[in-house]
Amino acid sequence: MKFMCECGSVIVDQTDGLPYRAYLLPDQDAFAFLDRLRTLLDGLVSPDEGRKGKATVQAMPLRNKLQREVNRLWAESFRDVYQCPECGRLHVESLDRQRLASFLPEDEDTPKTLLQSAASPE
Ligand SMILES: [Zn+2]
Repeated sequence: MKFMCECGSVIVDQTDGLPYRAYLLPDQDAFAFLDRLRTLLDGLVSPDEGRKGKATVQAMPLRNKLQREVNRLWAESFRDVYQCPECGRLHVESLDRQRLASFLPEDEDTPKTLLQSAASPE
């Protein structure tokens, strides 16, 4: 994905780990997300009678299925948010994911790094 900010800067989303991209999870969906993740895990974990009823995840095929299902759940649950590194505008993906709504910061000193990881060195 690539789009032009109103300031003329081109925002490119073609790789992972972007410092100007984040994910939006509505509060109304937060517990549903966790419930779906729990249901997903419950479906992949089964009691192992040989280990005194302790639940154990069954080997690699299930690990791969889990990875696939978590990726799907993530994609369905989160929408994208971008911040233009030049002007600081936020671009929020709409509910139908068909467009971006942009918001210009009111203050000029608003950080243009709001979507970076808190663990980032800068
Ligand atoms: Zn911009």
